[in-house]
Amino acid sequence: MEGRTLFHVNSTATGGGVAELLSSVLGYLLGANIQSRWLVVEGTEDFFVLTKRIHHLLHGKEGDAGDLGPAEAQLYTSALTAELPSVSAHVKPGDVVILHDPQVVGLAPHLREMGASVIWNCHVGADVANGECRRAWEFLLPATSSAHAQVFSRAQYVWEGLNREKVVVIPPCIDAFSPKNQALDPDQARRILAASGLFVTPGGPEGREGREGPGGPEGLDGRSDEKATFTRIDGSVGKVRHAVRVLGTSALPPEAPLVTQISRWDPLKDHAGVAKFFAEAVPPEVGAHLVLAGPSPDAVADDPESVATFDELGTCIASLPEEARSRVHVACLPMDDIEENAAIVNALQRYSDVVVQKSLAEGFGLTVAEAMWKGRPTVATSIGGIQDQISHGLTGVLIDDPEDSRAFGKAVTDLLCDRDLSNDLGRAAHRSVVDNFLAPRYLGQYLELVETVLTA
Ligand code: UDP
Repeated sequence: MEGRTLFHVNSTATGGGVAELLSSVLGYLLGANIQSRWLVVEGTEDFFVLTKRIHHLLHGKEGDAGDLGPAEAQLYTSALTAELPSVSAHVKPGDVVILHDPQVVGLAPHLREMGASVIWNCHVGADVANGECRRAWEFLLPATSSAHAQVFSRAQYVWEGLNREKVVVIPPCIDAFSPKNQALDPDQARRILAASGLFVTPGGPEGREGREGPGGPEGLDGRSDEKATFTRIDGSVGKVRHAVRVLGTSALPPEAPLVTQISRWDPLKDHAGVAKFFAEAVPPEVGAHLVLAGPSPDAVADDPESVATFDELGTCIASLPEEARSRVHVACLPMDDIEENAAIVNALQRYSDVVVQKSLAEGFGLTVAEAMWKGRPTVATSIGGIQDQISHGLTGVLIDDPEDSRAFGKAVTDLLCDRDLSNDLGRAAHRSVVDNFLAPRYLGQYLELVETVLTA
């Protein structure tokens, strides 16, 4: 890489697995003296509606049922053409550019023409390709094929029509040392959650969505705790300064058994299904509470569906029986400071008795690896990359049918009631992440690929 820069390019700086992955791997690359940059392409609302459609299709889902015709091709191309000057202002011939996901693959032909080596990394796909997938492939194949290599997170996601010699499978990883995954003792985790306002009755005093003001953390309503700390990426001490926005009819009791799902507000994450199944199939006698957590709905630049999905979740929860509703809490985690957000996610995952991921489709599912790293027992749909992470009955529990409320309820209840089982699964889960899903494995595979591309 002497004299070259390695660029990562995607379409959002925060929110979602790719942003998470890039924020952790960049430090390792720089630490290895590889000149590295991360560029984020901005798009219009129309563009992101279109790319979200493509995202759903690649998952084998219909999405908004919109077209992928000449008008959409024109929109896609012109949105990326508008971004070209700012990308080409940085990239020079000989550089290596890794483009992430369908939003930015349209840059591949131009970057190649400029003399860069281009790798495209596709993080999404379907277990079995269907007609929806093929519509998206057809739309993107010319751009995709122009990359020097294509990376997929799973072998099952590799597209038909690509030159297999240029295709590599590299599953993502988590960073053990980031604020998201660093060690926190139980007291620290509880303090972080308390300081964020998670245990306070919803609809409380003004300023719950508070911002840090000149006089201190206004939104925290006097709950600021100087010991609610985490270690920032630069090694300095971070403190929780912004409040979680909690929706629910009652406070989350700190001592209650806790079940959590943390995801973007995307219909494929099926938050509403989790709430419904929890209410139906986890008996009230267990006394468990459910937290559905995600970023502030308007905070993820390339996800135009989040506000509507979040609103639909509110409607679904409002229709639950009152007793169940009092045990379901929706938490919007502050995005003002991304490391603080990560620390709250970390604390929440560590504080949970069971972590669930009831997705209807899933590229990889970093949230699963994160929970497993923290020794948490997981219950997740047997779908996408989740299947590569959880060995059923050994490192977590897989649910074959995402619509099977009873299986979901039983798995969660068994884990809440059988602490030995939970601990055994959690310990094995942690070991599995150590062996398979940490940054050194990922970076090693990636650098081998870069070497292959540069010496081809
Ligand atoms: N996440 C986060 N803050 C939030 C909600 C989610 O940092 O408020 C992170 C989560 O911890 C994980 C990533 O977003 O690292 C989601 O990645 P995943 O692969 O699970 O799903 P994706 O969003 O890519 O579909």
